[in-house]
This record gives sequence, structure tokens and C-alpha cells, in this order.
Amino acid sequence: MAIDKNKDFIREWIVADMEQKGYTHPITRFPPEPNGYLHIGHAKAICLDFGVAKESAEQGGVCHLRFDDTNPCKEDVEFVNSIQEDIHWLGFDWGEHLYWASNIFDFYYDCAVDLIKRGLAYVDEQDRETMRIQRGDLTHPGTPSPFRDRPVEENLAQFEAMKAGKFPEGGAVLRAKIDMASSNMNMRDPVIYRISYDRHHNTGDKWCIYPMYDFAHPLEDAYEHITHSLCTLEFENHRPLYDWVIDNCDVPARPQQREFSRLNITYTVMSKRKLRQMVEEGTVAGWDDPRMPTICGMRRRGYPAKAIVAFCEGVGITKFNGNTDVARLENEVRSELNHSAERRMAVLHPLKLVLTNVPEGWEEEVEVVINPEQPELGNRKLTLTKEVWIDEEDFMVEPPKKYKRLSPGACVRLRGGYCMICTGYTADENGKVTEVQAEIIPGTVGSNPPEGIKCKGAIHWVSVPHGVKAEIRLYDRLFKDEAPDANPEGFMASLNTDSLTVLTDAVVEPALAAAPNEFLCQFERTGYFVADRYDHSPEHPVFNRSVGLRDSWAKMNK
Ligand code: ATP
Ligand code: MG
Repeated sequence: MAIDKNKDFIREWIVADMEQKGYTHPITRFPPEPNGYLHIGHAKAICLDFGVAKESAEQGGVCHLRFDDTNPCKEDVEFVNSIQEDIHWLGFDWGEHLYWASNIFDFYYDCAVDLIKRGLAYVDEQDRETMRIQRGDLTHPGTPSPFRDRPVEENLAQFEAMKAGKFPEGGAVLRAKIDMASSNMNMRDPVIYRISYDRHHNTGDKWCIYPMYDFAHPLEDAYEHITHSLCTLEFENHRPLYDWVIDNCDVPARPQQREFSRLNITYTVMSKRKLRQMVEEGTVAGWDDPRMPTICGMRRRGYPAKAIVAFCEGVGITKFNGNTDVARLENEVRSELNHSAERRMAVLHPLKLVLTNVPEGWEEEVEVVINPEQPELGNRKLTLTKEVWIDEEDFMVEPPKKYKRLSPGACVRLRGGYCMICTGYTADENGKVTEVQAEIIPGTVGSNPPEGIKCKGAIHWVSVPHGVKAEIRLYDRLFKDEAPDANPEGFMASLNTDSLTVLTDAVVEPALAAAPNEFLCQFERTGYFVADRYDHSPEHPVFNRSVGLRDSWAKMNK
């Protein structure tokens, strides 16, 4: 395998760079901040960073997993573990290359001191607001700080004082001395070090000065000998600063940065801050709630890793910031599950059907064949009994013309079994049907009914004595608006209040009770379901709906 330069502009750039400079493989990195769970947007970056490495693995390509933890805050082991688990689950691996940005605070510090010594950085003791005003704006150049031309010795002493805790938070910063009149605001003497007295999970109270992202990131990349540092578009105008840091610091390698557009998806919010808010406010059951756009949420929902990767590949790497239709993701899930998920039967809204022309206690084994060529898709034997559950939706007293299911006098097949004719029904005082009666037509298992009887279709069923009660969680989109972020009343005002329906009276095929957690299947005629990763057990089967058989939102919008 090799990197295909025709796939996108990033791969094209990497291949051209390797050819031009004569080296064999790229070294990329994926740098999550361990302050939340990974979401589908991260999956896009993972597919690119790890994808490029995987494609060039034979030549030596690798992708580093780097926890970008230069901000002092308490480490959350929960986030660190989940990030690693999610990347592995998606099918990628960093091998030996696991790094922590906070392990090289000394390196950033040495680089900063070096910049000061060469007259390229100075300690500014003005307050933040004053510095903000001095920065100017797009039409006005900045005003130099009165501290800009401090002598090197004084800067060294003051930076040392910052490090020694002689200043309060916000009392001083270290700034790169670049160009206060630059048309790029990021180049107007950006802050590269700040003071914080928060405790750092890795280094404790050793440091009270911390490098800013724009300073630390290129240095981390260079330290790890990253060749291509890929990030999202909002960093494009930070690239001159990235290059400035690489050019002016004593670094062991020369990484290069390129930017691609972030993934945004309709009916979804993606920012970690907003996802955290929903978790903390209890809007969802947790980061891995099956409605969340997190990787672990999608996993719990029953989205196969393959479908997520295929979706990211399909969206592709471009420079256009668009909003991708969530239906594309759902379609990938559907098409992956269509060829991989085993077929089973489950009745979500059970209605009892009694076969009146078979004796009490009658049982007969029938074979359900999904596809003779693909027995692994769920060809299996089931026991048909005198009483079976059918879905409420599959019976109507007064059906419309084209109704292909059961109604008085009509003939339908019990999937895999007999054709039967509906002979009657029982209703309660409110007119609600409580039982349906039918007679099977002998000799119709696997063959047509006699001349003159038209079998309208097949309906799914579960044996009353053998079926197993199950909890079914029907998930739908978490938001009812296409662009929740654009809601003037805030994204929470766009919540779809019907995004979860729990059915507690559903019944499933007997074998499904013993299905392993995360077992994926299609409930015939109903949708794709997964045995809940955590809550499902033989004593209490729980299935989550991953996706319907068809796009019901598209139909609704029409
Ligand atoms: P968020 O904005 O959701 O909080 P982030 O960018 O702060 O995300 P990081 O942990 O810093 O999250 O992200 C790690 C990597 O994932 C970065 O390289 C970032 O560019 C990339 N990334 C984050 N969100 C997206 C997205 N929506 N599309 C593509 N890449 C993304
Ligand atoms: Mg970030």
C-alpha cells in the first residue's frame, strides 16, 4: 500500500514533499486535549492522521497519539482512556508512539529563553486590556508595548521572576517580538508564555508559567520529528507563527502545518463544550448516550466502526467549510449493516395471534431462509406455536386498499412458515384489538397457497411460549433543527424531545436473550438494532435501534 496522491490535496502535498526531499514516509500526529470524549469530527481527523500513516506503514509511516495537555488542569483518566479506546475501536494504532505534551515543559522553556537571548522575545508587564487595545485591528497597525525594547538581561531576569512565582496571574507575559504592524494579527507580538497557579496533573506545582498553544504546538511537532502537522482550517492564519517558531527556535526537525475543513453535521452539535453541557445537565445519559455524536455514543448506538470510517472517507478532505447531511452517515450505517447484520425477528408492539385450526400445544419447527447463498445472514430454525405475537401495525380491521398485511379475510404468511387466513379478532370495550384469530393453510410452508387464494405478503412473528420479553430503546436524532448552533435561542432550544422512546413490552426471538453485548442485527421489517453494550443481559435483554431500514426523516420532509 502507498499514499494515494489523487485522494485529496493533503495526500498530494505529502507525496510531493517526500518526492522532492527524498524521504520515504511521513510522521503525523493526532493531538487531542484530554478534556472530553472524541466525537465524529475527531474521527475525520483520525482517519486522515492515522490513515496517512497506515497507508505508508510498509515504508515506515507512523502516527503519534499525543495528549495535548499543556494547560494546567486536573487529568481526567476517564478521558485519556476513552480516547485510546475509541481510536483502537476505529481500527487505528499508534504503536509505541504515545506522547504527552506536558513531558517536555523544559524544552519549551529552553526555547523561550533562547528567543529572549536573541532579542526575539520580551516580558510584558502591562495588563491584558491594555495589550488588547495596543494590538490594533485589521485596519490599524498595533502600537508597540513600552516593554518591547527592554534589554535582554532585564527580560531574562523578569522571565526568571515569572517562573519563580514573583508575579500574580496576569501580572506578566512573555511575548514573541515579531511585527506589530503585520496584516496577520497573530504576528503582532503574540503571547507565548503566561502565568497560572493552577496545579498541573503531570508536573504538579513545578511550573507556574505555561506555553501558549501557538508556541507549544510547533515545538511538540518538531520534538517528535513530525513531518506533516494536519489541523483544521481555523489555524490557517496561525501558520506564519507556526513557521516563525520553527525558524527561530533551535529545533531537531522542521515540521510543516497544513489545514483542512472541520466536519460539521446537520442536526448535530459538535463542540466539546456543548456536549459536556448536555452531559452535565442530564439532557443525555452520558458521553456515550447513543444519541451523542461521540465515537463511544455511536458505538453504543450500534454504528459499526467501518461505517464511520467509510463516512469520513466519503466526506473527504477539502478546504470548504460545509455542513454534511447527517443522512449520509446514517446511510453508511445502513449499507454496512445491510450486508453484515444477521436477520432476526422481534415484535415491538405485540398483539396476540391465535391459530385456531391447530391443536393446543402444537409446535412445528420451520426454517427461516434469508439468503440461501449467505446462511451467515441468519438462516435458522424457529419454532412456530399455536399462539404467536405479531406487531399491532400488521393488523387492521378496516384496511386501506393496498394494505399487504393481515385483516379479516385476508391471507398473509408468517415469515418462514405457513400462509394463514384471518378469521376474526377480539376487541375490548374501547374498540382496541386484543387478539386476532387465523387459520393456517396446510402445506404452505415454503410453497404457495392453492389456486384462488392470494397471499399478500409475509409478516414477522415471535412465538408466545418461546419468545423473550425485551426492552427496546428507539433512538432518534437529538435535535429537531438542521442547524442547532444557529438557533437564536441557543442550541438547547433545538432539542428533539422525542429522541428516545423506551418500549418495555417488546418480545424477541428466544436466542436473542443469549446474544452477546454489542450483537448487531436487523429486526426484519423494523430496523437495525444492537444489544446494548452495558445494559443487555440474558435476564434483561436490551436492544438499541441503530437506524431504521429507510430514511424516515427524508420521507417526513417531503
Ligand atoms: P472541539 O472544538 O470540539 O472542542 P477541539 O478542536 O478543541 O474540539 P481537540 O482535542 O483539540 O478538540 O482536537 C484534536 C484534533 O481533532 C485537532 O487536531 C482538531 O483539529 C481535530 N478536530 C476537532 N474537531 C474536529 C472537527 N469537527 N473536524 C475535523 N477535525 C476536528
Ligand atoms: Mg482544542
